[in-house]
Amino acid sequence: MYLRNRLYLIIASFIVLAGCQNITPPNNQNTEIRMQINKASYGHLENNEVHLYTLSNKQGMSIKITNYGGIMTSIFVPDKKGHFDDVVLGYNSLDGYLKNTPYFGAIVGRYANRIAKGEFILDGEEYNLAINNGPNHLHGGIKAFDKVIWDAETFQNDQEVGLKLHYFSKDGEEGYPGNLDVTVQYILNNKNELKIVYNATTDKATPVNLTHHSYFNLSGSMDLDVLDHTLWIDADRYTVVDETQIPTGELRDVEGPMDFRTPKNIGTFIANVDGGYDHNYVLNNNGKLALVATLTDSSSRRIMEVYTAEPGVQFYSGNFLDGSITGKNGLIYRKHAGLCLEAQHFPDSPNQPAFPNTILQPGTTYKQQTVYKFGLMK
Ligand code: BGC
Repeated sequence: MYLRNRLYLIIASFIVLAGCQNITPPNNQNTEIRMQINKASYGHLENNEVHLYTLSNKQGMSIKITNYGGIMTSIFVPDKKGHFDDVVLGYNSLDGYLKNTPYFGAIVGRYANRIAKGEFILDGEEYNLAINNGPNHLHGGIKAFDKVIWDAETFQNDQEVGLKLHYFSKDGEEGYPGNLDVTVQYILNNKNELKIVYNATTDKATPVNLTHHSYFNLSGSMDLDVLDHTLWIDADRYTVVDETQIPTGELRDVEGPMDFRTPKNIGTFIANVDGGYDHNYVLNNNGKLALVATLTDSSSRRIMEVYTAEPGVQFYSGNFLDGSITGKNGLIYRKHAGLCLEAQHFPDSPNQPAFPNTILQPGTTYKQQTVYKFGLMK
């Protein structure tokens, strides 16, 4: 009898322990869960050592960021069972990001999105930027903010842990005017909020439009697509674009497949959207930091809320992923394996006087803040 009871006890303990492994956050195994930031080597580039920083909070949520391109390589958040998964696409090592990447997790700038024919006129002078997307300029050019090494500094207080990245973009870099001093802070708090805070100053008028380019898949299973994720976007209009994805200037009311004012599955009408979603939504936030989008995945019950004061959000449904990229853990990223919600100004604003202004003047500071908040569906 005694032996049988002992046996039951051992089996029960084993089951409990096995279950607990599921809720143990990936980088905190066997240690007390606390807020922390770790720095590790992530390889070398042009004789510079590149680092990978791991930021974790008391909930066990953790993010990894490299100072190459300010790329967030992973975000571990819990599902309904407390199981932590990585919810962004990317590579296992620096090498992947160096070889080829459609901006996985990167900081995008000086100008996120497209500038028509790479041209604009500012203070009477014509500027010509690199053409790297059909006939247009995309995401700051050839060696833009996503492909440079940023200086990095960590910080921590009672409530949050953060990484402050700094980059000095020289006058003329990628064709843009003015020396631009940029800082981007990734800040993780104990409410599972990831804040990205951008600041920039210049010594000459220049267009600035910075964003973050993570591809989210809240299921954590990147072999599944995101078409059954549900999306809500607080936008009544979107910027209509031509065949090269340059805005025509028209702000059109959302209707049918373009309307996410009531939450809907991304896949419901995607077949009716030429090429899939890759549109700038005109947000109803009136320039104030507000909840602008919510993404949910019913299988894992994960939710991600997006807050920003930016006038637009580019919703890109990973249409150009075509199975040619093998990402983390050897997984092949097929069409719609992840989606981006990029808080930003409207595309081609330097050539569209009616759009909100994107020209930063000397003596003023560019500020942008976007919050990605993770939770579970009720
Ligand atoms: C753009 C897409 C582009 C993707 C990767 C997104 O921000 O809207 O058109 O293909 O970035 O470059």
